[in-house]
Order: sequence, then structure tokens, then C-alpha cells
Amino acid sequence: METKPIEHVRVLSSDIGCRMIGTPGNQAAAAYIAGEFQRFGLAVETLPFPCPAWSSEKTSLSVNGQALPAYANTFSPACDAAGPLLPLGSMAELEAADLAGKILVLYGELALGPLSAKGFFFAGEQDLKRIARLEAQQPLAVLVTNPMPGMRWRLIEDPDFGVPSATVTLEVGRELVKCGGTAAHIRIAAHRAEGSSAHVVARLPGTGSGRIVLCAHYDTKLDTPGAVDNACGVAALLALAERLARVPRQTALEFVAFSNEEYYTSPERDVYFQANGETFREISAAINMDGFGNLVSVTNIAAFAASEQFEALVEAARLCSPGVIRTDPWPSSDHYLFFSHGVPSVAISGTGAVSLGHTPEDSLEWVSAKKLETVVSLVAGLIAELDGKDPGWGRVQEG
Ligand SMILES: [Zn+2]
Repeated sequence: METKPIEHVRVLSSDIGCRMIGTPGNQAAAAYIAGEFQRFGLAVETLPFPCPAWSSEKTSLSVNGQALPAYANTFSPACDAAGPLLPLGSMAELEAADLAGKILVLYGELALGPLSAKGFFFAGEQDLKRIARLEAQQPLAVLVTNPMPGMRWRLIEDPDFGVPSATVTLEVGRELVKCGGTAAHIRIAAHRAEGSSAHVVARLPGTGSGRIVLCAHYDTKLDTPGAVDNACGVAALLALAERLARVPRQTALEFVAFSNEEYYTSPERDVYFQANGETFREISAAINMDGFGNLVSVTNIAAFAASEQFEALVEAARLCSPGVIRTDPWPSSDHYLFFSHGVPSVAISGTGAVSLGHTPEDSLEWVSAKKLETVVSLVAGLIAELDGKDPGWGRVQEG
């Protein structure tokens, strides 16, 4: 009997839990995925790569002797520092103030969303200016106010950022902003080291040429069991591997469980791209599954770098799948690697329940077994239609 996709979600999100790169959970997930591919009879290859290994035990913040909750930002250096608070709400304030010896409280214009990592290939100019200013002035620490009530997803997640930092909730930020000049003490007990992670690749051969890539990332952010993001995608990937292992085909299938989606830096630095970039012309389609399966959201599908006939095929598959809506192409996640190099790509994700992603609440209770099954059938249908088609069939014609 086939394993139900929800079973894979349970193992990944409940038994293993957080699967952030460089952690034991990440390695346990890779071993589980490789073991399942092997159990279904697929040949498995792992593509290891170095990554930061970071952990933190405790973060404490006190202001005027009163303890307030703060959460070490992912990859933050350790610190134990006391100094006055300096609230800053705009780039102009950040540029004008003397930051040395202060504990900064960033809010407003300086905390509208996550700060890009320095090594991120899409890093915004404004973000790089802020990082440069902070690193040049070396404040004692940086507290960043999450812009959403009650949320503690981290606004700085950069292994190359040299200033200790933590995130506070909007409510705590509101209090800190009133406390300019007040004595504060922050202690971040954290370890930064060199670690490793790996993409897990499994293959099913075909009788003809070319290949179809199916992918989903198995890593998570810090502090989340990552059920919808993205144990569901991996569950669908594994279910497809099990189902399709027994089906004869012309076009080979490659299943890629990616590991560095959440702290991605650049396509050219990715080990999968380094190992396979030269054969991207042989890929007839890349299908990425990331962030669908929530009971109260809607599954969506988008096509990228696709010819009219490829678009029509995706739309026909969608129409056979109850409750799946079409969405505009969105340039991130693992399909980016493929469509940015001309590979016709499909992304399946979810619309709605947006604030759940990357939080401790993204757990199994939110997952719809039915939505998972719908995606497995949809992708199996797409693969059947694409089987035997020339890799050029779905491509946008050049020139
Ligand atoms: Zn994701």
C-alpha cells in the first residue's frame, strides 16, 4: 500500500520539527527523505554544501531593570552588553546618529520587513546602505521591531552580519520606542560555527531523452515545524516518487529535495546549479511545490518562462483540479533557479493564511490531507502530458 502524503508531513513537521540548515533536524530530514526515495526503488544522490551552523540558548533583555521578551535573530553573534537605548525610525535618523555604545531600537521605516542578507543576490540598495552604516558604527546591539502584532519572525537573518541583533514584537517595540536614553542590558547566548547541509536528488530513468525536474525544499526557518512551508511540498514529492516509480515513461524524472530555500543567497552559488547547470537545456519542465496544503487557504499554480502551449497545458491541469486557482508568477523559491535560466517552470503554492508561514504555529493541525492529494494528482497529470515531449516544446522561442 502507498504511504499517505500526510504521513510524510507528520514525520517531517511533528517527529522532526524545525529543519533549519546546519541543525540536527535538517540532517534527520535529509536522511528520512533519502531513505524514502530508496524504499521506493529510486537511485539517490546527495549534494552536500557548507552552511552556517547556529544555535542559541537564551536571549534576555532588560530595560531599567525590567525584563522584556526578545528573540535572537538567526545567525546573530553572541553578546552581553549594557548601554542606553537609541530608538531610530528612519534612514535619516540612522545616518545622523552616533551609534557607538548604544543599543538601537529599529522601527518604522527601518523595520517594515526583513533586511536582506549581504550575500543575497537580490539585496536591495537601501538594505545594503543600512547594513554598511550599522557595521561601520558597531552599536552594542540592534533590536528590530516586528511590524506585525504578536509576531516574532526574525527581521535579520544574515550569517555575514557582524552586529549582535534580536527581534522584539510590535508591542514590546512600542514600549522601547518611548524609552530613548534609558539604560538597557542585552544578553544573547548563541554559537556560530561551520556546518553542512545537502540537497537530496533521486532519479527515475526514461527511455527517451531529457528530463522533468520535480522539487520542494525541506529546510525551514528557525522556530517553526514548517508543516505547510514546506513539509507538504516534500510530502507531495515523495508521494509522486512512490506512485511514479512503477509507471513506464519516456522522459526521465528527477526529484530534488532542496535544502537552502529559506536562507538562499545566489543561484550561481547553489551546488545543484554548479553540478547540473550545463544540462538545463535538457529539462523540459521544472515543477516546484512550496507552501500549499493549508486547510483554510487556497492552492494556487503559476507558470514561468513558458510557451503558449505549455501555459495551456498548465491551465488544463488546473481545471481538472478542484479548488486550485491561477496566480501571477512570483519570483522566488526554488523555481527561480530554473525559470531564470529559461526552463519552463511551474510553481504550486497557497494563497491566504499568510501570517502563518515561518512561525511556530505552522504545524500539522493546519494541513489538509485532501489538498495534498489534489496536488499529487495535478502534478502526476502534468507529468503524463509532458512525457515524451521535446525539451524545446515548452520553451519561449528565442529571438
Ligand atoms: Zn517555502
